Amino acid sequence: MRVLVVEDELHLAEALGQIITEQKYAADIVNDGEAGLDYAMSGMYDVIVLDVMLPKKSGFEVVRELRENRITTPVILLTARDEITDKVTGLDCGADDYMTKPFSPEELMARIRAISRRHGEVAMEELSFDDLTLNLSTYSLSCGSKSIHLGFKEYEVLKILMSNPKMVVPKEDIIVKVWGAESNAEDNNVEAYISFLRKKFFFLGSKVSIGTVRKVGYRLEADEA
Ligand code: CA
Repeated sequence: MRVLVVEDELHLAEALGQIITEQKYAADIVNDGEAGLDYAMSGMYDVIVLDVMLPKKSGFEVVRELRENRITTPVILLTARDEITDKVTGLDCGADDYMTKPFSPEELMARIRAISRRHGEVAMEELSFDDLTLNLSTYSLSCGSKSIHLGFKEYEVLKILMSNPKMVVPKEDIIVKVWGAESNAEDNNVEAYISFLRKKFFFLGSKVSIGTVRKVGYRLEADEA
C-alpha cells in the first residue's frame, strides 16, 4: 500500500511518514497543496492523508480537483480545528474521512486501513490471472493446489501486473508505485523482482509468464501450450 501525505507542518509530516512506514506501507510526503495535487493526480496512491490548511492550495481545493478529475483515491482530511463547518465542507468536497489534530498514530493507522479496505475493494480479497491467484490479505500466490508466500516487494510488483491484466505496465509506473518517485536506481531493481516472480511462477507450475516489452515494461501472459 502506498500513502501520500500532504502536510506543511514539517515535524508532523515527518512523524506521519514514520508512522506509516513503520507499518510497512510506503509513504510519499509533500508540503503544499499544489505538489499534493500533482502527486495525487498520478492515481498511484491507495490513500491520501491531506491537511486542510496548506500553502498554495487548500486541502478542500485539492480534494475537489481530484474528484473533478475522477481520481477516486480515498482522502483523509486533517485539520487543527474541530469545527463542524470544516467537516461538512470537507465531506462535501469529496473527502472520505476526517481527523482533528492532535490524533494518535494508532487512530490514524486504523483509519487508513479501514478506508483502504472500503475503497471499491470491499469484496476483493484476491486477484486472479489465468491459473494464478494472489491473496491480498495473506500475500500468498497459488496455482492449483500449490501455494507460495511472496515477499512484500514481490507482492506489490505482482499486484500491479495482475491489476492490469494483458496490459503492458511501464517499468516507470512500477517503480513509482512500489519504491516511490524519489527512489534511487539502486534500490528499485525491478528486474530482480521480476526474476524472483518468474522463479515462483515456475515453482508453482503456472502457465503464466511475465513478458518483457523492450524499453517499455512488463505484461502477464498465459502460455496456451
Ligand atoms: Ca497546515
